[in-house]
Amino acid sequence: MRPALALGALLGCAAPDADVVGTDAGTTVRRELGPVEPPAPTHRDPAIAPPASVNVPPPGLVDVRAFVPHVRLAIGYATADNFTGAVLPGYGATAAWLHPAAADGLAAVARELADDGLGLLVYDAYRPKRATAAMLAWTRATGREDLVRDGFIASRSQHNRGLAVDVGLVELATGRTIDMGGAWDSFTPQSATFAVDGEPRAHRVRLRETMVRHGFRPHDGEWWHFAWATTVDAPVLDVPYARE
Ligand SMILES: [Zn+2]
Repeated sequence: MRPALALGALLGCAAPDADVVGTDAGTTVRRELGPVEPPAPTHRDPAIAPPASVNVPPPGLVDVRAFVPHVRLAIGYATADNFTGAVLPGYGATAAWLHPAAADGLAAVARELADDGLGLLVYDAYRPKRATAAMLAWTRATGREDLVRDGFIASRSQHNRGLAVDVGLVELATGRTIDMGGAWDSFTPQSATFAVDGEPRAHRVRLRETMVRHGFRPHDGEWWHFAWATTVDAPVLDVPYARE
């Protein structure tokens, strides 16, 4: 099991106008609103690879940041801070892509939440097929096939089609991560949407109701996971997030 997700604490310190928070090669990346400049080269040592640049979404997927107002990214599989302890294949850069229908739905969710000063924090969206293969290999290597059996890791996921998204909430004014009563992608009973009480439960219910209202189907074993509820003809894809 991985340690408790540190991203929450990290995000708590985020400036209100930061629209991307994540890690890239172990360094916190925070981009201010406005045009995104390509990263400046920091060294000329050819033995150290430069930060990977984000790929262009393939036909059938769109960039969530271009569709969803106020969205922030904390892509856990693009860092070592996920249950495998390593960046997953296909996640060499911090980005989030979705099928256009799901991206439109998520934009409607974001607009509604913004009226109450809340924003969406995306942990994962489209997931390259090779990343799912790596997750399954990890369960076999570590003897954790129970996670597949119990539904925490899917051998075929709507994420692979760009039709599922993992999200939490942030307070727009401060960038503070809203307490959902448990970390994204933690394989514990408290991940079940209705397994906690008090304010975290209210936040989960708020997220769930808003997502459902705008076309998503919840997964009540994981408070963060939502799939696009309408059947859409979308292929499984294996295009990586980083330009290779
Ligand atoms: Zn998910």
